[in-house]
Amino acid sequence: MGALPKRKISKARRDRRRSQDKLKIPAMSICPKCKEVKRPHFKCPNCGHYGTLSAKDIKDSKIKAKATKK
Ligand SMILES: [Zn+2]
Repeated sequence: MGALPKRKISKARRDRRRSQDKLKIPAMSICPKCKEVKRPHFKCPNCGHYGTLSAKDIKDSKIKAKATKK
């Protein structure tokens, strides 16, 4: 016989473990640019804006940040 647990897991302990198993619906917010539903702290999947910044603005600021680093 293979390895077996020494004791039965009580209903309370089993249920406590399973209380963590439920998948939660992620938080949602609305894009200020196109009013599409999006996740907070993520860029908008519809228009690519992050807050009022466009995807291009973000790219430019990243390039700037890299240039000023050195
Ligand atoms: Zn948007």
